[in-house]
Amino acid sequence: MKTVVSLQEMQNSALRWRREGKRIGLVPTMGSLHEGHLSLITRCREQVDIVVVSVFVNPIQFGPQEDFASYPRDLERDATLAEKAGADYIFAPSDQEMYPPDFVSLVKVEKLTERLCGASRPGHFQGVTTVVAKLFNLVQPDVAVFGAKDYQQAAVIRRMVRDLAFPVEIVVAPIVREVNGLAKSSRNQYLSREERAEALILYQSLRFAESLIRGGERQAADIKASMTEMIDSVERSRIDYIEIVHPESLEPVEVITGDVVIALAVFIGKTRLIDNLLVHVAPSS
Ligand code: AMP
Repeated sequence: MKTVVSLQEMQNSALRWRREGKRIGLVPTMGSLHEGHLSLITRCREQVDIVVVSVFVNPIQFGPQEDFASYPRDLERDATLAEKAGADYIFAPSDQEMYPPDFVSLVKVEKLTERLCGASRPGHFQGVTTVVAKLFNLVQPDVAVFGAKDYQQAAVIRRMVRDLAFPVEIVVAPIVREVNGLAKSSRNQYLSREERAEALILYQSLRFAESLIRGGERQAADIKASMTEMIDSVERSRIDYIEIVHPESLEPVEVITGDVVIALAVFIGKTRLIDNLLVHVAPSS
């Protein structure tokens, strides 16, 4: 396994692999790898000849009050874990080379980015789509694998790829959870032992909402009210949003008549966590 830092070297290698007829896969990450990331690498390995894992804590997707500076970084550990999961290359560019002082080009997906995380993190998705577009140009992937953990991000990237005709297949892999249901996240490291126990409320409230739907409840407002009550009962929780949306348009649903995604962002102490659940609902039920 090799670690590439230089943008030029990454792109030259990728263009050479393409000329040799090799299929390239990309797994974009911000590092601090955990089993969620590793599942994406395993999935990518099955589909391509060369697996590139990018490790880049992308400064332009963080707001000024967010955790860019404190975000956990450990490239050596990431390289060991990525290799075990089947990666061939780590691409770990520097902030300076990715964003030189005269960098002024941005990629923006409208509409889909207005709600959910887009509403509470202005500029976040523009940072994500800009870096992903740049990574696509540098790594030239045939396939790129993302996690359903960041449901809105995956939907936004799919739309960018469609709208701008990137020749990349987007694969979205399921959320990897701890046995207790907590979605794996690099930010779980910020949680104290007590907060980690409280953080279980995210998934518990999603499963509770699902059970209400299975029981025949169709009013999104009532479901959200029940979830709010449940989450508010946890001492250190603060709800950022709870939304019930259409799986593709991400438009809010008032009366549930088909599949929906229940998505939420909740602060546990100072740590903002996200989770979501796709609930299949037969159209006639
Ligand atoms: P991040 O390093 O947090 O930017 O995540 C990089 C990729 O890993 C994104 O596509 C995430 O959706 C995905 N990912 C993060 N956590 C999980 C998880 N628990 N299960 C599946 N995919 C995940």
